[in-house]
Amino acid sequence: MDYLFAERMSKTPRSFIREILKVTEHPDIISFAGGLPNPSVFPVEELAQVSKDVITDEGAAALQYATTEGYYPLREWVANRYNSRYGLSVTPEEILITHGSQQSLDLCGKVFIDKGTPVGIEEPGYLGAIQAFSMFEPQFHPIKLESDGPVLNDVQRCMEVDSCKIVYGVPNSQNPSGITWSDTKRKEIAKIISEYDRVFIEDDAYGEIRFRDEYYQPVKKSIPDHVVMNGSFSKIITPGMRMGWICAPEKVMTQLVTAKQATDLHSSILAQRIIYRYLSEYPIDSYIKKITDTYRSQCDCMVKAIRQEFPDSVSYTVPDGGMFLWITLPEGYNSLDIFNKALEEKVAVLPGIPFYTDGGGINTLRLNFTNSSCDQIEEGVRRLSRVLS
Ligand code: PMP
Repeated sequence: MDYLFAERMSKTPRSFIREILKVTEHPDIISFAGGLPNPSVFPVEELAQVSKDVITDEGAAALQYATTEGYYPLREWVANRYNSRYGLSVTPEEILITHGSQQSLDLCGKVFIDKGTPVGIEEPGYLGAIQAFSMFEPQFHPIKLESDGPVLNDVQRCMEVDSCKIVYGVPNSQNPSGITWSDTKRKEIAKIISEYDRVFIEDDAYGEIRFRDEYYQPVKKSIPDHVVMNGSFSKIITPGMRMGWICAPEKVMTQLVTAKQATDLHSSILAQRIIYRYLSEYPIDSYIKKITDTYRSQCDCMVKAIRQEFPDSVSYTVPDGGMFLWITLPEGYNSLDIFNKALEEKVAVLPGIPFYTDGGGINTLRLNFTNSSCDQIEEGVRRLSRVLS
């Protein structure tokens, strides 16, 4: 049967990561290829307790249909967190609870992107955003990343020459590069975006996963009306509940709510109430500290091992948060060859190619450090360095 699929399906890449994970999940393999939070820090017992309490105490409401915008106390929690942590002035009405920030990206696509809409995106950029936006057939315009954030000329070009309608970026501990934008870059970009009266989609999935107690003001702080900010409980509680949010100005919120209604009516009210009860009964800051302490020591192990083992011609980022580190190999190296040879050595890496919308990145790799012990990281880096040399 020749199925007549929609044209957009042929333009949306399958998640390379999910395909690769099928090969790399073998227990003998040390895997830096995935992107999962470390399950050893999930608050399993606490969530078991609050789940039971929610069903027992709030069963009727927790099992019923609910409002599209989300559970009000949870929206209030998110708004308060932004206001106290980032000095924003956000109201609960500006928060929409979603099924993870991946859904937030889908909703942003629905609201802002038509076929051919020019969209600015970091290069390398978050693969999930490339995939979510691709469903709406945009024209991507890459904005190259350097060590302190996007290349400003590229942002300017994106506005002036390419007429980008939206720009998407991850200013804190970016996936895949681990790069954090400097304060200067944030302010400059805010200036350009507002000058052209465009929208910045600020994906803050890793804003709470910071290793050195260094926090930067979000772009939203300087130009609140121009920014749609996406956040998530995936990295600070658990990804399995699929709970995230969008923080958007009122006019954008109206559109997002319509798009959300058309997509799935509302986010799981059971999951929202469980998350809220967990946040009310347990100290989230000490839990986040446990996560960041764990990830910091894993990241330090990886950086140290790379410094000792890798040839000098290989460059790498030193992340100050998040879950990933980015490797740039000398020109002429092919990361797909490295991927195959590394698998023979029983270590898995992720070629950087799918993080590029223009076919570049052939000599780049993403390494995840949150799912291996320090011993495994040292051994994995040793194996990888054998492949590289
Ligand atoms: N944005 C970024 C930058 C991410 O790295 C991820 C998770 N890999 C997401 C969004 C999606 O996260 P979730 O849907 O679990 O909230």
